[in-house]
Amino acid sequence: MIPSIHSKLPAVGTTIFTVMSGLAAEHNAVNLGQGFPDYDMDSELVGLVNKAMKDGYNQYVPMQGYLPLREAIAEKVHALYGASIDAGSDITITPGGTYAIYTALTTVLRPGDEVIVFEPAYDSYIPNIEVNGATAIRLPLRYPDYSIDWQMVRNAITDRTRVIMINSPHNPTGAVLRASDLEELRKIVSNTNIFILSDEVYEHLVFDGIPHESVLRYPDLMERSFVCFSFGKVYHCTGWKLGYCISNASLMTEFRKVHQYNCFSVHSPSQVALAGFLSNRESYLGLGTYLQEKRDYFTTLMKQTRFDLLSSHGSYFICGTYNRISDEGDSAFAKRLTIEHKVATIPVSAFYKDATDNKVIRFCFAKKRETLESAVEKLARL
Ligand code: PMP
Ligand code: GLN
Repeated sequence: MIPSIHSKLPAVGTTIFTVMSGLAAEHNAVNLGQGFPDYDMDSELVGLVNKAMKDGYNQYVPMQGYLPLREAIAEKVHALYGASIDAGSDITITPGGTYAIYTALTTVLRPGDEVIVFEPAYDSYIPNIEVNGATAIRLPLRYPDYSIDWQMVRNAITDRTRVIMINSPHNPTGAVLRASDLEELRKIVSNTNIFILSDEVYEHLVFDGIPHESVLRYPDLMERSFVCFSFGKVYHCTGWKLGYCISNASLMTEFRKVHQYNCFSVHSPSQVALAGFLSNRESYLGLGTYLQEKRDYFTTLMKQTRFDLLSSHGSYFICGTYNRISDEGDSAFAKRLTIEHKVATIPVSAFYKDATDNKVIRFCFAKKRETLESAVEKLARL
């Protein structure tokens, strides 16, 4: 008899990023869908990985991650956010930000728990919650600025609320949280048993002079938070799948119990390379300006089209509506755009569990100028 499987995620299909990148490749479309840069990463960092391999750093590092890298991260977050983080007990290197988020949720969630998550939400969040037997309490961000309605959060809290998930800069909308948002969050969670999961993978990609409001700035929040980062986003190497989680010693002890029997340790030579490279502050401090120029260039080019862009203050992304072009649903429109007009984007309904369709699509502008020009030339024909 062949055993039958009862899916733990019956409603989940293939992630939209794989679907749209596959469609883009099949139809030879310019890919402004999945979030990855098409420009080169720093060759010095490539050289350092190469060197680390040649120098023999090819065996396991400790399960927590290569200590000099954790020390470099602790120094960085102290300089940027004034956070006092212990490299020994509070940081774990992970195979990417997504894994860090999954591990943090698995560390704290039990069946029956509730997690407050804002939609549109990065597509891994809700499956990560549900695979742990917990329930996602989905709250809509306010359209069109995608801000959080904190009164709605207050009303959604029950005695089963275990985690509130935040993401700033936000994927897919480019919205960023302000100090006043963090103040609200602090008030709401103080004297509760609620944990915070803060997805800060786009920490350096904040525009228009707005500071990144990291949870790491707030010691009271750090008593209850897991903060997740991605080197892939910082160093233009999304395929490296390397990131880290910062928490406090007692939460991190539990996080590591999950991590050590799932992954154990992460690719050694890249950790050795990054430990050296992280002290080069210019490599990340200039990122916001670099991506802001791309956002602005794309926004200017898009004026030639009948798409209407919403605002984006961070991340790789900007959303847009297409009411002047079509009244199709966003998923059908994004597919037709790829197949017939050779530009791939992401339909924002993919970031809602119930596929809420506000007829918005997401563009990734982390691309070379010529890629953006080629895409807009095609979009201007619609
Ligand atoms: N969170 C968000 C909001 C993201 O956009 C990404 C992008 N990839 C991740 C987490 C995960 O990063 P990684 O590729 O390092 O897993
Ligand atoms: N974070 C990227 C995006 O939002 C994609 C990551 C992935 O493909 N899983 O497009």
